Amino acid sequence: MGFELVRVSLPLIRTWASAAGTFSQRDSLLVRAVLRFPGLGNGAGEFEGWGECSALPGPTFSAEYTAGAQDVSERYLLPALMRDGTACVAAVGPALAGVKGHNMAKAAFEAAILDAELRASGARMADFLCGQSRVGAAPAQSVVAGVAIGLTGSLGELVDEVALRVEEGYRRVKLKVRPGWDTEPVAAVRERWPALVVFADANGCYGHLPIGEAGERLARLDAYELACLEQPLGDDDIAGHAELARHLRTPLCLDEALSSPVAVASALRTGACSVVNIKAGRMGGYLEAVRAHDICSERRVPVWCGGMVETGIARAANLALASLPNFSLPGDLSATGRFFATDLAGPLSLRRDGTIAVPDGPGSGVPVDLDALKRFSTSRRWWAR
Ligand code: MG
Repeated sequence: MGFELVRVSLPLIRTWASAAGTFSQRDSLLVRAVLRFPGLGNGAGEFEGWGECSALPGPTFSAEYTAGAQDVSERYLLPALMRDGTACVAAVGPALAGVKGHNMAKAAFEAAILDAELRASGARMADFLCGQSRVGAAPAQSVVAGVAIGLTGSLGELVDEVALRVEEGYRRVKLKVRPGWDTEPVAAVRERWPALVVFADANGCYGHLPIGEAGERLARLDAYELACLEQPLGDDDIAGHAELARHLRTPLCLDEALSSPVAVASALRTGACSVVNIKAGRMGGYLEAVRAHDICSERRVPVWCGGMVETGIARAANLALASLPNFSLPGDLSATGRFFATDLAGPLSLRRDGTIAVPDGPGSGVPVDLDALKRFSTSRRWWAR
């Protein structure tokens, strides 16, 4: 029994660029939990589960970053989990509550423990998460896929990449925007694909402008029927988003600003957004993500599942989350092959109708490719319990 921290570095097919960071290698922290469930399975009743920390290589999306996540895991999170003998998912949050922040690192442990627990009991993550929700409905069998497209060097490059994704079968794209690269790229994509579901994500980079000026610039996007405009202002500017929302017809969505279900409820009360991006890592885990989903559902606010350029380990779990009923907008849920030539888990295949099946096996439902893991791991450390 114990936990293993595995650091991997996967080459991206294309350099990822957004206002929240640029990288061509995905340096990630994975957690392997090996837990004992007496009486289940063969022999010792040991089952393993995997979690992926969504922190980016550098502190460019939030304060968390991969090396920092590893450090806080080794110094604080692992000792807390070992001390408490935590072996069930419900106990993870209380065991780690004494550590402030570091939601993405905490979420990786929660995901690994949950995966092990569900693999032991033979239950699917989608069914488990739906069971945790107050919104009574069965999980969806499949979810509409979506692809996020990073900042490109030119309009031509952008249109070529969107064309490639549409040809692959994606029905929703998310474009990264920033001051000076907003109306033109959105107009170019909308003109060529009038029926495509298009989101725009600013990663907070209009926050330096006075609200009136940001509102004036961003109101130009209203002509292009975006499904939502994500996080135009800074992480902590809830009041600014509420004011900006009054200038725009395009629905505002928040991402970086929402680090907990409480933050989601506050933002909705003030009118700062009418759409919510849920990322389990940013919220501190899948259980908190379900709570945020329920809060939005009660207020009839649609949600979607955001991505962090993750491997198949996280994307399989995200598909389970996105099978909940209020994930009514397509998220950043792309198929195997979108980011990495070789992935660590899968396959997650894009079907002809533009959907991806929610994995059907126990736990996250996909096997981890141990050979690929060996090939791309840069460090491994085992903590026995
Ligand atoms: Mg975002």
